[in-house]
Amino acid sequence: MKKTLSLLSGLAMACLSAYAQQTILHCGKLIDVRNKKVLEAVSVVIEGNKITDVKSGYVEPGSADKVINLKNKTVMPGLMDMHVHLEGETKKGGVVDKFTKNPADIAFDSEGYARTTLMAGFTTVRDLGGSGVNIALRNAINKGLIVGPRIYTAGKSIATTGGHADPTNGYRKDLMGDPGPNEGVINGADEARKAVRQRYKDGSDLIKITSTAGVLSQAKDASGAQFTEDELKAIMETAKDYGFRIAAHAHGAEGMKRAIRAGVTSIEHGTFMDDEAIELFKKYGTWYVPTIIAGKSVADSAKTPGYFSDLVTPKALAVGPKIQSTFSKAWKAGVKIAFGTDAGVYMHGKNWKEFVYMVEGGMPEMDAIRSATFSAAELLGVTDILGVVEKGKLADLIAVHGDPIKDISSMGNIGFVMKNGVVYKND
Ligand SMILES: [Zn+2]
Repeated sequence: MKKTLSLLSGLAMACLSAYAQQTILHCGKLIDVRNKKVLEAVSVVIEGNKITDVKSGYVEPGSADKVINLKNKTVMPGLMDMHVHLEGETKKGGVVDKFTKNPADIAFDSEGYARTTLMAGFTTVRDLGGSGVNIALRNAINKGLIVGPRIYTAGKSIATTGGHADPTNGYRKDLMGDPGPNEGVINGADEARKAVRQRYKDGSDLIKITSTAGVLSQAKDASGAQFTEDELKAIMETAKDYGFRIAAHAHGAEGMKRAIRAGVTSIEHGTFMDDEAIELFKKYGTWYVPTIIAGKSVADSAKTPGYFSDLVTPKALAVGPKIQSTFSKAWKAGVKIAFGTDAGVYMHGKNWKEFVYMVEGGMPEMDAIRSATFSAAELLGVTDILGVVEKGKLADLIAVHGDPIKDISSMGNIGFVMKNGVVYKND
């Protein structure tokens, strides 16, 4: 009897899977980012959270199937922004936020930023540093409690005392304290190891370090090296033990070169990249994540009196406008580029403008879209599940009105968003 039952339930399972409901996307155009081609009149078949087939022509649905008509849109893999900060957003005088906002306030704010990001077509992001609320945000999205992109987060980034991302920079002396590895501030190799292990304990997916000074920290310098080679080596070795990839913020050339030689996965911003640095990028296969929009945006904000502090304003004016020309130089030289914007430094949801700046900087439209899909998946090490519209991959797809290969600004005109097989937007 028991055997018969199990045989029957086995048959029922087989029937269920043969007649499982499929969602079929009828795509007027589909961007094949792997082969850099635009396909016309294609059907993408989805079952559950996976793509089960991609066929030419418009496949007729079975009686249980659902068709989504995207015949007048251009479909592509869900976009991936490799540099965001979902915990906050720039505003005039925003420097006081860290004295007034509790973690719960940050959490409620970030819920809105996450939703905005997903609705802008970004189904995956790499969060490169916050207070650690970004870890809870990732978990809540994964549980389906709130709506947002798939998040790979660094948790709290790692800095050195007084360095970019030391959380108490600019504080009054009695409030400053002496933050350590727990808070993401290290001095010396032992503390570096401890900080990486703490990120593991916290639940980070990757490590972010600030290998040079930065624009928005309350400190005078914007580009000097801030980690010794010894500290970088300790971070790298420990990160490897836990399978962490490392993103390194760097404006100045010396800190950038130290980080590349240590073996980091990506350099963020890269503003003062010189010829020697370019050679190192190529030699080590390091990714460059430009964030052109962040540079332009901070330079713009700095023109409003009182937007930034007196320490930050001159740095924003000097560093911001340089990133686009660095991007052009790196692209021409053949440096590997992945899309990233530093969202939060400008308004969340405007991430698409980076595509326009990349094309302005000399990158063809197809390559710009590839940098935010195929290349981003490579940078994250998730090409087995994301980055292309192909059989077996997760069903993360978006569509835009118009044709972004002809007019890149149509990346700002999102008409359809699907993440993990669930439709979040269709108009
Ligand atoms: Zn950043």
